[in-house]
Amino acid sequence: MKRLIVAVDGPAGSGKSSVSRAAARALGFDYQDTGAAYRALAWFGLERGIELDDPAQVIALLDSFDYLIGLDPDGYFVRVGSTDVTSAIREPRVSEVVSKVARIPEVREWLNNLFRRIMLDGRAPGIITEGRDITTVVAPDAPVRVLLTASEAARSARRAAELDGHSASKVGRDLASRDAQDLKVVDFMNAAEGVTVIDSTELDFEATVDALLKVIRKAA
Ligand code: C5P
Repeated sequence: MKRLIVAVDGPAGSGKSSVSRAAARALGFDYQDTGAAYRALAWFGLERGIELDDPAQVIALLDSFDYLIGLDPDGYFVRVGSTDVTSAIREPRVSEVVSKVARIPEVREWLNNLFRRIMLDGRAPGIITEGRDITTVVAPDAPVRVLLTASEAARSARRAAELDGHSASKVGRDLASRDAQDLKVVDFMNAAEGVTVIDSTELDFEATVDALLKVIRKAA
């Protein structure tokens, strides 16, 4: 059977990572988090002490960017070289600068090719890849394409709960500012033609996973 490609996009805090991962687990599919690659590159730039505002320096970094991600939804990890960066890439110091690397077209193209290779070769019967431009740029021909949305208030509340100890208003401000930066590069708030919208504002986690599974099963 051909590997089923599922593309999921959405803004920060829409729940797309945890929902995609749970759906992949239920189906025995691989799970690819593309935001992790942008975060890992930003982390690598911080480690190397380069100027992230200078596209030439970030592009030069790609030559030595040795990135590895675990695709098993139960064995998720992110590595740069021999360093495990799974938790380091979630730190606010990385979230605050990741948009700087994500806005560079050469970086996007380089990473998109990597994402496509990962989508195509693997043994699981399918793969769910989530990000901002998977349904539109990375895999516009994927048989299943979903945009996961939620109101801004719901998204801030979820992120604040994840980042225990941070105030909801600070989290809300950081999230809105990152979305504003990212929206200059890709539109992940409006569904492209043929993309199914799942609005999770009023749905709990399980119901959102079920909604995604329903869309995938229908296509399969
Ligand atoms: O999904 P996550 O919040 O971890 O993504 C981190 C950052 O990576 C986003 O804020 C965005 O700048 C970038 N990104 C992107 N395109 C994707 C996935 C993530 O530009 N497909």
